[in-house]
Amino acid sequence: LGAKKVEMSPKVVEFLKGVKQLYINGEWVDSVSGKTFETVNPATGEKLADVAEANPEDIDRAVRAAREAFDHGPWTKMSAAERSRLIYKLADLMETHQLELAQLETLDNGKPIRETSNADIPLAIEHFRYFAGWSTKMVGQTIPVQGAYFNYTRYEPVGVVGQIIPWNFPLLMAAWKLGAALATGCTIVLKPAEQTPLSALYLARLADEAGFPKGVLNIVPGYGKTAGEPLVHHDLVDKIAFTGSTAVGKAIMKQASDSLKRVTLELGGKSPNIILPDADLTKAVPGALSGIMFNQGQVCCAGSRLYVQKSLYDNVVADLVSQTKSIKQGNGLADETTMGPLVSAQQQKRVKTYIDKGIEEGAEVLAGGNIPFDQGYFVEPTIFADVDHSMTIAREEIFGPVVAAMPFDDLDDLIAKANDTAYGLAAGVWTQDLKKAHYIAHGIKAGTVWVNCYNVFDAASPFGGYKQSGIGREMGSYALDNYTEVKSVWINM
Ligand code: NAD
Repeated sequence: LGAKKVEMSPKVVEFLKGVKQLYINGEWVDSVSGKTFETVNPATGEKLADVAEANPEDIDRAVRAAREAFDHGPWTKMSAAERSRLIYKLADLMETHQLELAQLETLDNGKPIRETSNADIPLAIEHFRYFAGWSTKMVGQTIPVQGAYFNYTRYEPVGVVGQIIPWNFPLLMAAWKLGAALATGCTIVLKPAEQTPLSALYLARLADEAGFPKGVLNIVPGYGKTAGEPLVHHDLVDKIAFTGSTAVGKAIMKQASDSLKRVTLELGGKSPNIILPDADLTKAVPGALSGIMFNQGQVCCAGSRLYVQKSLYDNVVADLVSQTKSIKQGNGLADETTMGPLVSAQQQKRVKTYIDKGIEEGAEVLAGGNIPFDQGYFVEPTIFADVDHSMTIAREEIFGPVVAAMPFDDLDDLIAKANDTAYGLAAGVWTQDLKKAHYIAHGIKAGTVWVNCYNVFDAASPFGGYKQSGIGREMGSYALDNYTEVKSVWINM
């Protein structure tokens, strides 16, 4: 599978030996139970490290530390400028340790090193810098109210935040959650996904070195039931920010309603990617391919439903199939690899089951469809044609490198089909006709619409879902609302 010659950074080798502790209250501590769990390299199935497993008692310790830091620690008394400087310092340290972070991310998740080096880690760093800038710019209003009153608003941090993140972009998802929460002055208990705890633990080391006061940031790897749920239930947590599956998002919302905790949810998707007859196909076809295959298809906004206007459907699908052959699957640590394994054996099985279901329901596999290697959790990049809207592969989120291609004729019918889903995270449109681009962009019920591009992100631009794809927005100024309360102050003049 390649990657034989990759030199691991000595810092990574050393780090992997010592991740058997949780980061709570500014210290590395053993879990109460002393339990650990294995994290494996999905390219080989081999164990990478034993990681400390947080249980409900550990979550309680972490939440109490975050509560104490919020209620009595220096963090909430610091000036916004001091908070900002700490976040910048963390970003600088991440930059110094980019190589280690990229290698760890590739080892733990499987994704190609060229992506962790050029996308995941730099984007995470820029994300922290963007939000470091916001710390000092959260201004309230003075409001011209009736009578002899002076009325103004101020933003205050929401308090102790529990953050639960998935495994598909482990460090980037941590950054999306932490950036805004730190900038607004919250304190945090972050639970990384059990499949990919390593980069968040490395981040904890860097945050420690940056000098955040104790208890501000607590990192507690563990499982959903035994670490995630106790965090959601904990009375001393003010808010839960979750990214993951829609099923777990719904359960979290129910549980949080007991104490009316604030909740923001970034959930799944089944995003349409649409090619109109006047599209520049030299860009649209590779764009549609990377729109689904990027990150092995394990992207919440993956363009998993491809709609191509009837007149060019056959040509586009043929081009897509031929371009799929240029995807080089292998160990993510090899420079030439453009597609790594899926994150786990479970995910591999899930995706393969969907492929089999697609075939069973009558769709035609034009490329891929198989498990290519005996080793690791790979699935071939797969193109389905002759897909009908009622088929499972056109309706459910597969979260793998599998696209369902479908022809369309009429624009309004297309928009109706694109919206005929419980999800509403993102969509893509490929056309040179700006009028049609806007018409479709406005007609689609999704939080993001990309025109003549796909999977483009910037810390300054909001991201989040309509319908069952979530509640709230991350990134941009909009993310600050997730972590603040607005207070209105009246003064009788
Ligand atoms: P998942 O919901 O099973 O797990 C996500 C996280 O939630 C993990 O940390 C897990 O330990 C935790 N968790 C699981 N059960 C829990 C519970 N009962 N209470 C509290 N925490 C619990 O999701 P997954 O299958 O591991 O991840 C893939 C899903 O995440 C996909 O559906 C994908 O669309 C979604 N996702 C969405 C976005 C987005 O921004 N909208 C980004 C990445 C992934």
